[in-house]
Amino acid sequence: MMYDVIIVGSGPAGLSAGIYAARGALKVLIMEKGGIGGQIATSWEIENYPGAPAHSTGPGLTERMRDQCVEFGVEFSMHTYLSNEQTPQGFTVQTDAGELKTQTMIMATGAEPRMIGCKGERELRGMGVSYCATCDANFFKGLKVAVIGGGDTALEEALYLTKFADEITIIHRRDELRGAKILQKRVIDNPKIKFLLSSVIAEIKGNDMVESIIVKNVRTEELSEVPMDGVFVFVGQKPNTEAFVGTLQRDARDYLITDEEMRTNIPGIFAAGDVRKKSLRQVVTATSDGAIAAVNVIKFIEDLK
Ligand code: NAP
Repeated sequence: MMYDVIIVGSGPAGLSAGIYAARGALKVLIMEKGGIGGQIATSWEIENYPGAPAHSTGPGLTERMRDQCVEFGVEFSMHTYLSNEQTPQGFTVQTDAGELKTQTMIMATGAEPRMIGCKGERELRGMGVSYCATCDANFFKGLKVAVIGGGDTALEEALYLTKFADEITIIHRRDELRGAKILQKRVIDNPKIKFLLSSVIAEIKGNDMVESIIVKNVRTEELSEVPMDGVFVFVGQKPNTEAFVGTLQRDARDYLITDEEMRTNIPGIFAAGDVRKKSLRQVVTATSDGAIAAVNVIKFIEDLK
C-alpha cells in the first residue's frame, strides 16, 4: 500500500498537518511513537493558543486535534521511524515493524528537554531530578524544590509547582529572567518562589533521592550546599533529529533547515514544528507549520501528475 504522506510525530505540528492533508483528500499515516501530544502533552495550562477555552490543558488540546484527524480519515501507527530511502515513486520508510511506502513525508518529530550535564543529574533522574512538573509535582507536596532555568518553561513550571511544594527556588545563570514579562511578574509576586540568580548547579547530591545541591555563584565562583528535595530542570530543548543525520540538512544546533514552505533539502520531504530552525516555538507556530507543510505536500503531489 502506498500512502500519499507519512507524518512522523504527533504533536501539534504533525496533527495539524494530518488535518490539512486529509481534508485535501490525501491518504495519510501519522507515526506517533510515544503516544500523542509531543511536548505540549506535558503542559498543564495553555493560555496563549488563540481560542483555547480557559484552563485548557496540553493533553486536552492535542486529544481534540487527534479526534479531528480521525474524523477526516487519518490513520495512526505506534511504530518508530528508523530511516527512509528515496525510490522513483517516493520513499520507502523503514520502521521498527517493517517497511512502509509513501509519496511524501513530513518530519514533525519535535524537541525534547536538555540536560544541565552536572554531576548527579543523570544518576538521580527519576529520584528527585525531573524534566516535567506536570508528571512529578505531586511527589513534592510540602517539600523544597529547585527549578533550573529562566525561560518561559521554567517560570510556568515553577508556578505550577507552587500548588504542591512548600518552597520553590528558581536558579538561573544570569542576573535577570528571560521568560515573558507576565510570567516574570507572577513568579516574583508569588510568596512561595525564591530566586538564586547568577547561579548554576554544580552538583546534585543524594543517595537514593535528591538530598542537596551544590550551587555556584557565577560571579564570585563561590560554592554553597543547599538542602533540596527535588530538582526540576527546564534549560531548553534539543531537536529530535538523530534519525535524519546525513540526509536532511540541519543547523549548528541540530534543528532541521527548511524554507518558508517547510521544504527540506530533499524534494518530497517537509518538516514542521519545533524540530525546525525557527524563531518562535509555540503550539500556534507548530500548527501553522503543519498546515503549510500539508498544503505544500498537496501541491507537490499534484505537480507529479
Ligand atoms: P529557553 O527559552 O531556551 O530557556 C532556557 C533557559 O535555560 C534560559 O533561561 C537559559 O539561560 C537556561 N539555560 C540553558 N542552558 C543552561 C544550562 N546548561 N545551565 C543553566 N541554565 C541553562 O527554553 P524554554 O523555556 O524551554 O522555552 C522554549 C521555547 O518555548 C521558547 O521559545 C519559549 O518562549 C516557548 N515557551 C512558551 C511558553 C508560553 O508562551 N506559554 C511556555 C513554554 C515555552 P539563558 O537565559 O542565560 O540563555
